[in-house]
Amino acid sequence: MRKSPALLLSALLLALAAPALAREGAKPQDTEQWTPVPAMVAPGDVSAAAAAPSDAIVLFNGGVELKEWVSSKDRSLPARWRVEGDLLIVDKSAGNIETRRLFRNFQLHLEWRIPADIQGEGQARGNSGVFLASTGPGDEGYEVQILDSWNNKTYVNGQASSIYKQAAPLVNASRRPGQWQSYDIVWTAPIFLADGRVQTPAYVTVMHNGVLVQNHVALAGETRYIGAPSYGHPHERAAIKLQAHGDPSGAISFRNIWVRELE
Ligand code: MG
Repeated sequence: MRKSPALLLSALLLALAAPALAREGAKPQDTEQWTPVPAMVAPGDVSAAAAAPSDAIVLFNGGVELKEWVSSKDRSLPARWRVEGDLLIVDKSAGNIETRRLFRNFQLHLEWRIPADIQGEGQARGNSGVFLASTGPGDEGYEVQILDSWNNKTYVNGQASSIYKQAAPLVNASRRPGQWQSYDIVWTAPIFLADGRVQTPAYVTVMHNGVLVQNHVALAGETRYIGAPSYGHPHERAAIKLQAHGDPSGAISFRNIWVRELE
């Protein structure tokens, strides 16, 4: 039977009204979220863009002993790198150092400087690194490379701001030796199942001198000097480690290191 236009119109209006009828009683306020209220955080001084925000843990800001750092070789021993004013200078003979505190997920800021008179080439030219989760006393963990990559050819997944032997940076945002450079890093730690397998990989985002160079990269595992990256033994909270690389090319300086925990 053919329906009249009036019937069709009624059916159409009813169909259009149906969603509204289903939501009868719904209010705009229903979808407003009021709690938890995000904590107030004073941003750092705009005249010094890298100054630590108010909720950061300052890991090094000069003028104090290295109370936030220990030796990676033996965590019961103090870190024995040199402090000169607001500078933390790598002492290669002292080995890697790492944070006394352990972290899971975090935002990390650090500044580093290759000596203006740097010598050497390739990986032997201002090599250091920051391991976002230290899993052993040596170079175990997940390394964001520090290197002079101003005018220094090397493998791209080993240049400055690479995830060493795993991910080349999107661009090379390096400054010339002698100038200060910054890393701002967001680290999401891997999650392991009870049987040790990886449930969720680690993710890392890196800004080098304010430029995005690693964009939420899922890591295939820890840094391996030889062989493909792979996850080692499961770990929970871990230290942040700075590398005393064995190359003889000159002492790298750090300053203004702070971290904000993200949970
Ligand atoms: Mg390195």
